[in-house]
Amino acid sequence: MRDSQNLECFRKQLQESLEEIEQYLAKTAESAEAVSPDKGLGRLSRMEAMQDQQLILAARRRKKMQKVEVLSALQRIENGIFGTCIFCGKPIAFERLEVAPEATTCVNCS
Ligand SMILES: [Zn+2]
Repeated sequence: MRDSQNLECFRKQLQESLEEIEQYLAKTAESAEAVSPDKGLGRLSRMEAMQDQQLILAARRRKKMQKVEVLSALQRIENGIFGTCIFCGKPIAFERLEVAPEATTCVNCS
């Protein structure tokens, strides 16, 4: 990734995803806590609350993994190795990075 303008663009994109992830995690922090027994009005709504909580917990896990990927992509930009496949060392296709700037492998190695 020699084109510094593209690199800046990816950095911006990554930082935006990072902010979005942080916001989501902050927003759902309360919902992710255990459902208290007195929450909800009846048996059904408590069950629904617990199902919602499972969904939120799963989504938070995905977001946290995404956060790690985004952070490491930003780190790779800092280190000047962004856009290079971690397995074969070849450049990752630009189209691939456009869709997923956090990608660490080329199409062949993924
Ligand atoms: Zn590769």
